[in-house]
Amino acid sequence: MTAVESDSGVLAGEQRMLIDGELVGAAGGAVFDVEHPASEEVAGQCADGTVEDMARAVSAARRAFDAGEWSRDVQFRFHCLMQLHDALDRHKEHLRRVLVTEVGCPVTVTGSQIEDPISEVKHWAEYGRDFDYLVDTGLHNTALGPARRKLHHEPVGVVGAITPWNVPFYLNIAETVPALMAGNTVVLKPAQLTPWSGSELGRIVAEETDIPAGVFNVVTSNANEVGAALSADPGVDMITFTGSTATGRAILAAGASTVKKTLLELGGKSAHIVLDDADFNSSLPLAAMMACVMSGQSCILPSRILLPRSRYDEGLAVLKASMENFPMGDPWTPGNMQGPQISATQRQKVLGLIESGLASGARLVTGGGVPESLPVGYYVQPTLLADVDPDSTIAQEEIFGPVLTVTPYDGDDEAIAIANNTIYGLSGEVSSADVDRAFAVATRMRTGNVTINGKSHFGIDSPFGGTKQSGLGYRNGTQGYQEYLHIKTIGMPE
Ligand code: NAD
Repeated sequence: MTAVESDSGVLAGEQRMLIDGELVGAAGGAVFDVEHPASEEVAGQCADGTVEDMARAVSAARRAFDAGEWSRDVQFRFHCLMQLHDALDRHKEHLRRVLVTEVGCPVTVTGSQIEDPISEVKHWAEYGRDFDYLVDTGLHNTALGPARRKLHHEPVGVVGAITPWNVPFYLNIAETVPALMAGNTVVLKPAQLTPWSGSELGRIVAEETDIPAGVFNVVTSNANEVGAALSADPGVDMITFTGSTATGRAILAAGASTVKKTLLELGGKSAHIVLDDADFNSSLPLAAMMACVMSGQSCILPSRILLPRSRYDEGLAVLKASMENFPMGDPWTPGNMQGPQISATQRQKVLGLIESGLASGARLVTGGGVPESLPVGYYVQPTLLADVDPDSTIAQEEIFGPVLTVTPYDGDDEAIAIANNTIYGLSGEVSSADVDRAFAVATRMRTGNVTINGKSHFGIDSPFGGTKQSGLGYRNGTQGYQEYLHIKTIGMPE
């Protein structure tokens, strides 16, 4: 497929899907438009896959898994995934331009979305090659005498991977590569707004690796029902999903009748507890930056800032100054750190939530609307809302925009209670001059992961998973790899 290039850097991605080793259009030939959020223009099209296309992809993956070679030959998988790593590395500038085109994220901040996932392909290839798939646990006493037990780690089977639009290339890799390296076969269903980060991966797998037909499939579609079909298909053994909590619930229900293993990384509404001894000049500018980079479209963003009442005005002033000076604009211009929201709908949702916050008594400190200097593109001003009621909608629902809400508290116990007062539990942050005190607070937060004084909890070597309604299971670390393996315990004579 010919790539469309323009002076701005906009680059149309691969239109075709990958099904059973072939790069193909949708069954009826339909395509849908992909928009560049900074120009509001259509950048190109992608195949609008159907439920029928999805069924073909699942049967190809089923056949490829049941044939057994892929699931049994770890050295071959290593070879193929290293080929994939090298091919992605060769095409990384192309992939970066496709990513900026469909997401609108600033080119300056794409390192964690391009270089990092490409290096993670190599990480998982090496990790999976060296993994101990057979563990002898020795002799165990049983009623019938001693029995040796061996733990055989086997792939789960056909894995359906469903991804969201906010960090699409990163999540396409994070959801599929460890699954493939563990010996599973995969059907990837990328998000409607970002199909090319998935279809480009499919093209590279088809054209530049020895991954056999059916082992990796990509079905793009503009219809939610195609993702729903994947999550209900009896030929699928496991769903790995990243997206909203509402969709996660639907996927869990859809998989219930066939008891699918389900790995869910869902929404968040994380709190940043700023303790009264914290260095505001280091913690709060960083908090403001995290809210604006990626236009706030980050699941782990600590968007609820909890400030001690004794230093409330001081904290608001630092946050206000940091948000007002944030470099925002055309994502192709180096140096800009905040781009547009991904779509008109998303921008409207963010603006609507800001309105609801103001209606519930919050005070607008800065921002609150569309920047006058950027009339084209789905931009939202960095927005700071103070005096936010912890029970109000703006404090309870994921905003996914460059918005921080601030709530005052009295004493650590109240801060922890407010932090824990949502259905979510994905991430969180604590700032304090006393790391032991911050650690004690972190352990009382009912959330999956916590950052102390800006030191990130997130990395390929550490398990990442949500608690409460933010998810089930883990990505990354040993636990993240083992999600894609079933442990078969084999009892045998000495
Ligand atoms: P979404 O839930 O609307 O869509 C995610 C994917 O699910 C898309 O591919 C979509 O087509 C598909 N889908 C929609 N309905 C479906 C159904 N009924 N059955 C099966 N699949 C279906 O999420 P989004 O708007 O694309 O992404 C934003 C959300 O993702 C936010 O809630 C964010 O917090 C979350 N997220 C979480 C993490 C994490 O690691 N926890 C990371 C990134 C994003």
